[in-house]
Amino acid sequence: MSRPASYRAVVLPGFHRDLVLEERAFGPLTGPDAGWYRVLAAGVCHSDVHVAEGRWPKLPTPLVMGHEVVVETAEGPCVVYPPWGCGQCRFCAATEEQLCGSVEEAGLVRDGGYAEWIQVPHPRYLLPIGDLDPAASATFGCSSLTPYRAVRKAADRLGAGVRCLQIGAGGLGQYGVQYLRSLTGAHVVVADLKAAARERALALGAHEACAPDALEGPFDVVFDYVGADETLAQARELIRPGGLVVLVGAWEGSVPFGFSRVPHETWWTQSMWGSRDDIAEVIRIAQRGDLDFLVERIPLGAAGEAHARIRRGEVDGRLVLIP
Ligand SMILES: [Zn+2]
Ligand SMILES: [Zn+2]
Repeated sequence: MSRPASYRAVVLPGFHRDLVLEERAFGPLTGPDAGWYRVLAAGVCHSDVHVAEGRWPKLPTPLVMGHEVVVETAEGPCVVYPPWGCGQCRFCAATEEQLCGSVEEAGLVRDGGYAEWIQVPHPRYLLPIGDLDPAASATFGCSSLTPYRAVRKAADRLGAGVRCLQIGAGGLGQYGVQYLRSLTGAHVVVADLKAAARERALALGAHEACAPDALEGPFDVVFDYVGADETLAQARELIRPGGLVVLVGAWEGSVPFGFSRVPHETWWTQSMWGSRDDIAEVIRIAQRGDLDFLVERIPLGAAGEAHARIRRGEVDGRLVLIP
C-alpha cells in the first residue's frame, strides 16, 4: 500500500500536558522485520489516562499512546499484539511476551496507535481478524484480552456453583463477566459503583450485580478489575480461607500480606495483560459470535476529549479512534 509523505499522530508531549494532534514524518524502520502499517482503529484505554497523568513516570515522552490497535496489511485487517518482547527468552518462546524482561509495549514505551500509521517491529505481532469489525477488534489488544487471561488462569477453581465476585464492570470488566459465563460454571456476582455498569453486567449474564457496599461474602474467587487500596481491602474481607484473589486493575493499590493480614491460605496473584496465544483465542471466541462489544467510534482529533470523558467517568464500553 502506498505511503503518504507524512502522517497525523496524537502526541503526549509530556506528563500532565494536553494531547497534541501533529503532522509527523515517517521515521526509519527499527529492524529488518519492522514495517509501517496504516491504522484502522485504536482504542482509548483507561490506563492511557493514567499514563498521561504521569502514574508511570519512567515512560518516555513525547509519546504516541494507544495499545489497542487494528491495522491494514496486505493480508487484510490485523489486530496488533502490543507487548513487544525480545523474541529470545523463555517467556517470548511461550508467546508470553508481556512477561519478557525487556518488553517494550506499543503505546507505552514505543509509539502506538493514536495515529494514522504505526511502526510494528515484527509480523508475529499482526493477527488477522477476518470479517470482524476493526473498531470492536481493537479491544483484542487489551480490554477483551486481559480479562480472558485472568479467567483462563483461574478456570480450574471456577467449577459449577463456585461463588465468584468480580469487582468492577467497566472497560475490562464487561468482558470478564462474559468469559466467566461462557468458560466457567461459577455463580457470578458483580460489584460496581455505577448503576449502568451493573445493568450491563446483568445483561451480559452476571447472576447478581450490586453496589460494593451491599456485598456479602464469602467468595471462593475474587477478581479485582479496579486494583485500588479500597477494592483490595474489600477482596481481603470477602475472600474465604483458601480462596483465590486475582488482581487485574492497574490502579496501583496494595494490600498488606502476612498471617494476620489476609485470611488463611488465600492465594493472591495478578494477571498481566495476555499472551499471543491468548489473543489468538480471543479472536476465535469473537469469530464464534460469543463476545458482545460496546464501542463508540470517534475521530482521531477527539483523543483529548476522550481522555476528559474517561476522567469524568462518562464512558460506557470503549471509545475507539478511527483515523
Ligand atoms: Zn489497556
Ligand atoms: Zn523476551
